[in-house]
Amino acid sequence: MDMVNASGSSWYIPGPTNLGVHVRDGRAVLIDSGNDESAGRKILKALEEKEWSLDLIVNTHSNADHIGGNTLIQKRTGCRIAATRAESAFIEEPWLEPALLWGAAGFGAITGKFLKAQPSKVTDIITSSGPVLNTGLEAVPLPGHFLDMVGLRTPDGVFFIADSLFPPAILDKYGMAVCFDVAAQLKTLEYLGKAEAILFIPSHAEPSSEIGPLVKRNKDALEMVRDRVLKICAAPASREDILADLAVFFDLSLNPAQYILTHITVSAHLSYLADQGALQPFFEKGRMLWGQGLK
Ligand SMILES: [Zn+2]
Repeated sequence: MDMVNASGSSWYIPGPTNLGVHVRDGRAVLIDSGNDESAGRKILKALEEKEWSLDLIVNTHSNADHIGGNTLIQKRTGCRIAATRAESAFIEEPWLEPALLWGAAGFGAITGKFLKAQPSKVTDIITSSGPVLNTGLEAVPLPGHFLDMVGLRTPDGVFFIADSLFPPAILDKYGMAVCFDVAAQLKTLEYLGKAEAILFIPSHAEPSSEIGPLVKRNKDALEMVRDRVLKICAAPASREDILADLAVFFDLSLNPAQYILTHITVSAHLSYLADQGALQPFFEKGRMLWGQGLK
């Protein structure tokens, strides 16, 4: 794994999930830990090569691709782990992620390492806004993608923005980014549109000092799904009908994992549109249907 200098004492490790490292006096804080044990092993090797010792992992959120290295790294180094309270619950009880996405205890095809990491111990609960312990890092709330996701600003002006923005390649492929809360995501995008940093580092997109176009691309994608859901519901449709329409519209090849990730995003849009007064649920012959302007 390469260790790339972002600015001053702020570094990142590019990969399927971009990871952050902030160093003071040879002691490192890691931002997220990658996909799995193997990522954990590679991170430790990269830190060793720099002769930095690891004090703490800060997890931006609890998705498996951000906490997958926690267990191995914590076992080997005894490092502390910090996260917000809601995300901590999922880091310590990773079966909650497939359970949340599916709505009940998960089954084989959704409980692999892609959606369920190994458990690790969160030693420090942090708030989603303000200083992170005595690290010099500042947590910034970036809700929308998951429960209580945070970004992290370093004293060098580098801003790790987690999964708040996805790259065009992912949006082109799936048509949408996984979203837990549409209203929160819209606010996060508005905030990011005005945010300043020397370098923004999204977890799954290229680092850049200019994220305006990426913010717009993500907002357009979110609004496109919202508008499509509204259009589908011109004739009452079930959540399953809406998901099927989007899957065909975006040419998704569904499998159980892809299905539940699409499902949560559809549900997020329905919650948002219901609270906006644009759609209402009703029941017909045992089906929950969504429509416009119904009583
Ligand atoms: Zn991610």
